[in-house]
Amino acid sequence: MKFPLHSNILHAPAWRTRFAPSPTGLLHLGHVASAFHGWAYSRPDGAWLLRLEDIDPQRCKPEFARAALDDLAWLGLVPDGLVLRQSENMPAYKRTLARLAGLGVLYPCFCTRADIARESAAMFSAPHTAPDGGLLYSGRCRHLSDAERERRMAQGQPYVLRLDMARALEHVRHGHGHGHGHGHGHGHGHGHGHGHGHGHGHGHGHGHGHGHGHGQMGDCGPDRGANHGAGQGKGAAWPLTYRDLDRGVVACRPELFGDVVLARRDVPVSYHLCVTHDDAAQTVTLVTRGEDLRPATDLHRLLQALMRWPTPAYAFHPLLCDESGRRLSKRDGALSVRAMREAGLTPAQILRRAGVGDMPDMLQSTCRRSG
Ligand SMILES: [Zn+2]
Repeated sequence: MKFPLHSNILHAPAWRTRFAPSPTGLLHLGHVASAFHGWAYSRPDGAWLLRLEDIDPQRCKPEFARAALDDLAWLGLVPDGLVLRQSENMPAYKRTLARLAGLGVLYPCFCTRADIARESAAMFSAPHTAPDGGLLYSGRCRHLSDAERERRMAQGQPYVLRLDMARALEHVRHGHGHGHGHGHGHGHGHGHGHGHGHGHGHGHGHGHGHGHGHGQMGDCGPDRGANHGAGQGKGAAWPLTYRDLDRGVVACRPELFGDVVLARRDVPVSYHLCVTHDDAAQTVTLVTRGEDLRPATDLHRLLQALMRWPTPAYAFHPLLCDESGRRLSKRDGALSVRAMREAGLTPAQILRRAGVGDMPDMLQSTCRRSG
């Protein structure tokens, strides 16, 4: 397999790209291909950043994070700048949730998994799925009264926070909210999460976020930088689009996701929230990712518009498959970089197996090797 790289890559702007593995296992050939895809775009003058998506303490292990960094260095991939560890960035995600709550586009959902399956079946006659395979949510809890929400929270009923998709689209389309921003906070203190009103005249929630006195390393919120999308005045983000380096301007359909979960019960944030936040925080200008994440990009674009973060460009790569056409996964232990290293393969051999062996010139000229 040959990985697609935009033909103008060497004349492209100095892209800031990132590789964002989840340390739930050893890196495999699919990771190698993905890492190099992003890395190649960042040459010669951009930056290649590394982010560890380690928010799930049940599944992520420090030893896998260490192994990932070590294997990447052995392959010749040394990240620019500090590694961002999502587990150290929780205060920033909570502030993001508080701001979304302040826009009035979040609501607590108390449904169990069984509730959702039942409701979805009843509402759509057959279970409907979002583009990412998740069940579409019926919106039942969207209609709960404030009093009912308070009551359930006071009882300690567990809940997730969902995006009110219709309101979110409305907000982006018209560039202003309804102003009464009463979202709900999440986590320990219950009730009234509220965002702080945020200076462009909408959604003045009555704010107490958690947002003060952070600023330690790793808590790099995109809100601090000069990061607000240039020229994004009221409604300017509509219609939602992004630039795909291969396909050109792509129109987004985030509504296909319905009211997605932005804060889970167990981990009080979600992948979609964190990845969108971090791409802005790390000022990533080109997101490189597998084709499997193409649909989710529409949702990420909506979150960027809500948060008034800049929109990066995107480049997608195919997913590596094994001989039987099955997508590679961490279960294929024999294909881990570590196992191949230990079996005596060289970095160049592993790159060839990953389908990125045609990048050796760039690699040798610009990339440090450690072994
Ligand atoms: Zn619900």
